[in-house]
Amino acid sequence: MPLKNQVQLIAYPNRLGRNLSELRNVLDTYWSKAIGGIHILPIYPSNADNGFSPLTHKEIDPNYGTWDDVRAISSRYDLCLDLTLNHISDESAEFKDFIANGYKSEYADLFVHVDQLGEVTPDDLAKIHIRKEKEPFREVTFADGSKGRVWCTFTERQVDLNYTNPKTYALMEDYIAFLTAQGTKLFRLDAFGYTTKKLGTSCFLVEPDVYEILDWINRAAAEHGAEVMPEVHDHPSFQFAIGMRGMRPYGFALPVLLLYSLLDANSTHLKNWLRICPRNQITVLDTHDGICVPDVEDLLPRDKIQAVIDNVSQRSADPILRRSAANVHSVGAIYQITCTYYDALKGNDDAYIAARAIQFFAPGIPQIYYVGALAGCNDVELMDSTGEPRDINRHFYSLEEIEREVKRPVVRRLLKLMTFRSEYPAFQGRFELHYSNDKSVMMSWRNGEAWCELFVDLIFKKTTIRFLDLRTHRQLTMRC
Ligand code: BGC
Repeated sequence: MPLKNQVQLIAYPNRLGRNLSELRNVLDTYWSKAIGGIHILPIYPSNADNGFSPLTHKEIDPNYGTWDDVRAISSRYDLCLDLTLNHISDESAEFKDFIANGYKSEYADLFVHVDQLGEVTPDDLAKIHIRKEKEPFREVTFADGSKGRVWCTFTERQVDLNYTNPKTYALMEDYIAFLTAQGTKLFRLDAFGYTTKKLGTSCFLVEPDVYEILDWINRAAAEHGAEVMPEVHDHPSFQFAIGMRGMRPYGFALPVLLLYSLLDANSTHLKNWLRICPRNQITVLDTHDGICVPDVEDLLPRDKIQAVIDNVSQRSADPILRRSAANVHSVGAIYQITCTYYDALKGNDDAYIAARAIQFFAPGIPQIYYVGALAGCNDVELMDSTGEPRDINRHFYSLEEIEREVKRPVVRRLLKLMTFRSEYPAFQGRFELHYSNDKSVMMSWRNGEAWCELFVDLIFKKTTIRFLDLRTHRQLTMRC
């Protein structure tokens, strides 16, 4: 069965209720009509980065539940899971075997041996696209006392996998077969851009290697009846390249484009993007990461991007910066802004509903992050307690809190909108962007006789949907 074109929720296994069984109850109680799918963030045993340092993809952290819980969810909702293809935990059986047996380990070639790549010059280092205040290497001490170095892009716990070795592909194939058997229909290919290591390049999204790897994973997933959604934050043109290869690109340009459109009451750049954006995309306004800036470059003029950053920074935590491996303490341009989307829009309910309505009418399948689905505010306490800026948007909701939050007017309005987006049949048909002045947006969807049209007034933040009631054949107006 292909993916349903309905709203998908993005949620951690333990932050909407304490575990998968509570998550399932929450979905069935509050969102059963409003969503058709769910992306559950990493459920695997992991030793860092909130689940993104998996020991394996074939086990579940017992604190979250069991595969029965996952299958119960996937039997009702389209399931998306992460395939963390760039790295594996340093506590994985494979890495531990490598430490115990050194280069004689049958898993040794799963990892990237920095010292076998040749001399890494300062020039090479300067080019590498890095994600931490340190070169992307880690020293290892083998059981016999000898030492080596492996590549690790993210934390020292997350050891990069070697995509020049068939064993890595065999490992991924094994994971894909297992996870599709649990009902996975969509794989989020986490951080795939870092899988290409070639000294003298940025080691990020290196062509043609990166597309060979992606095409291979896409084929393997398709053989098991699943689709893939490669995750990359960079220039928006990469999303077009992904979309053209038959994979699901992320519409990562939309979050900043919409912030600009609503904060400045101007729809010009948004409409330019709506005309060309990949029709098979998955749209988001928020995820468990920050609001990413490079994704909108060249779609929005630099001064407008800066205006959004300046505006939202007044309400956000420290931004995440781009870095250079040659000078790890250098301060680069802003990579991600850390803030909930609701707070980014100043907690203005009408602006927030307008943003979601535009997202839901944009081409593609919309995803809504759980904090966004509850119009959540920044959790500064959580962020301060962990020291991780992205935790500002990763609140832990108890069942009681959810029950309270869903009663807020803005959450009720959003729920109604999500339900309309998931249930009204026009969205299975054809998208059209209509003429409107620069202070408004008008879009419609049509499928047979089903027809709906969205009009958003960006100055007064007024959102109106007109649609044909398929029972009475009368045109109705919904003020959102
Ligand atoms: C995920 C991040 C994570 C990183 C490493 C990203 O793409 O979204 O949350 O820190 O990959 O796995």
